[in-house]
Amino acid sequence: LLQMAGPLHLLGTMYRQVKQALTNLSRLFGLLDEPLDVQDRDNAIALQPARASVRFAAVHFGYDPRREILHGIDFDIAPGHTVAVVGHSGSGKSTLARLLYRFYDVQAGSVELNGQDIRDYQQASLRRAIAIVPQDTVLFNDSILYNIQYGRPSASREEVEQAARAAHIHDFIVSLPDGYDTQVGERGLKLSGGEKQRVAIARALLKNPSLLIFDEATSALDSKSEKAIQAELDRLSQGRTTLVIAHRLSTVMNADQILVMDQGRIIERGRHAELLAKGDHYAHMWQLQQEQKDQASQQRV
Ligand code: ATP
Repeated sequence: LLQMAGPLHLLGTMYRQVKQALTNLSRLFGLLDEPLDVQDRDNAIALQPARASVRFAAVHFGYDPRREILHGIDFDIAPGHTVAVVGHSGSGKSTLARLLYRFYDVQAGSVELNGQDIRDYQQASLRRAIAIVPQDTVLFNDSILYNIQYGRPSASREEVEQAARAAHIHDFIVSLPDGYDTQVGERGLKLSGGEKQRVAIARALLKNPSLLIFDEATSALDSKSEKAIQAELDRLSQGRTTLVIAHRLSTVMNADQILVMDQGRIIERGRHAELLAKGDHYAHMWQLQQEQKDQASQQRV
């Protein structure tokens, strides 16, 4: 079997290259984006794609199959609900997000979207349905307009500005001498962590995904910025199936379900109040964070 792996991989690569070439060709000849005879009504509304449900069923996974990272993960996210994952560094939280976006395939069990194994979907359609707001957004060396429009390249300038307004970054952009044409990224204007996250939020809003994955920044924020980001997350996840890798108590308190992870297992689950009342792992984490917060505020005084 191992001897077959090389040629098979090559075949896969060739297949993808040919498919890509065909797609490019049909684009070139305008076969895909051909204008239609019918027109939208003036007051036509955007169709919300079907709301997604997520299921992890007995998922086992390791980046290296010899070292298993997830040891049987089971959970569901009902359509429109928010699940927050908490746990120590290295417990496997981000790995859940990577599997959902299908950067990797599971070794056993399944990840399902709307009741269908995600391996059964065309990758492009799966990734169109999901938007990720990562902890640290990588910006392209291009204009800030391009960087936001990347969420949906066919979006109009007006739609980009609308998304930027909703993500509270529009005013900042128009205050720059070159406005939306400002070059950002490594060779351009360097944005702060919070500004970059807002660009990612604007991108996600433009994409209008049925499933949102939000990887909260760990960096400490002042309480005003924390409130602002929380408000944006609430807006973004409104009525949308959401998986949050959570580092902030304000986020977990609003979640429909909290998963507490430890060493690749879910050791506790429930809503904030239930888990607090249980007085076990989650309650200890909460208490520890409260103490750290109190200490930090005492130091500031
Ligand atoms: P954090 O809160 O620090 O982001 P996490 O809970 O999200 O941590 P993961 O990033 O899911 O943790 O990592 C889980 C385990 O998988 C860790 O032991 C990590 O070393 C390992 N791991 C993560 N990414 C890779 C990779 N690309 N290759 C190999 N091992 C990896």
